[in-house]
Amino acid sequence: MTVEDVLKILPDMDPGWVWLAGAGPGDPGLLSLLTLKAMQQADIVVYDALVSQDILNLLDGGVRLEFAGKRGGRPSLKQADISERLVVHAQAGKKVLRLKGGDPFVFGRGGEEARYLVKSNIPFRVVPGITAGIGGLAYAGIPLTDRYSNSVVTFLTGYGEDGGLSRDIDWNALAKSSPVIVVYMALGRVEAICQKFLQNGRRPDEAVAIVSKATLADQQVLETTLATAAEDVVRADLAAPALIILGQNVKLRAGLDWLGAMTGKILTAKLPETLPHK
Ligand code: SAH
Repeated sequence: MTVEDVLKILPDMDPGWVWLAGAGPGDPGLLSLLTLKAMQQADIVVYDALVSQDILNLLDGGVRLEFAGKRGGRPSLKQADISERLVVHAQAGKKVLRLKGGDPFVFGRGGEEARYLVKSNIPFRVVPGITAGIGGLAYAGIPLTDRYSNSVVTFLTGYGEDGGLSRDIDWNALAKSSPVIVVYMALGRVEAICQKFLQNGRRPDEAVAIVSKATLADQQVLETTLATAAEDVVRADLAAPALIILGQNVKLRAGLDWLGAMTGKILTAKLPETLPHK
């Protein structure tokens, strides 16, 4: 059976429909088959800044490409304009692929866009993608959960409505209850975020990783601690997009950095002695 055979049994895009699909964190190998199929069938692809060039390169030359990102030096569109654009294209009978980095429903405003489609009576399908906070950690060699260390994990965004930290986060409850915390959109706020956790009782020597450009060829992982992360991140001059991971699972990377092993890093199967909670 070929990939084409598999794609054939999947649903087709119909004219007038919008598919709201995740492209994953960047490596084209992490695209889902449904997203790939939509990339083959769409008339118009409205894509985010976070969709990697390697993925865009897979599109046929004939597809109309529209940038709807919020970065990259190009003028940014307002959310309402992006949603309206999807509606206009669908009403014109196009097959519209709204391609978003990671998963469309994880810190990606996919829900807002979908609600607008509902309001406008546009039929749509949602295709999940591998979110950066899961796929990116796997590429960094950091297990999100590990039976040895944590049975809870929390995802949060460092970016609230007004540009500061989100106001609806109970930092104290979070610091007490979640051994592993993954922060999206955090690069410009490393200091403020680490301060919150320190003020709420997390140890200064607790392990932190910053994963920049996860799953891309120029992925970088900085291992640091809660006390030193802010300084180290400035020194390392890491590029966006990036995630912060707080928790001793970061230490398991010594044994699990499979990408590093490809370039000669020696992995150790021994568990670090400092894993907490046990
Ligand atoms: N919907 C996306 C998240 C959008 S919010 C998803 O599910 O992954 C944007 C944030 O996602 C960035 O600020 C960064 O924190 C994270 N992110 C997305 N792609 C990333 C990547 N390749 N490497 C590291 N972080 C990434």
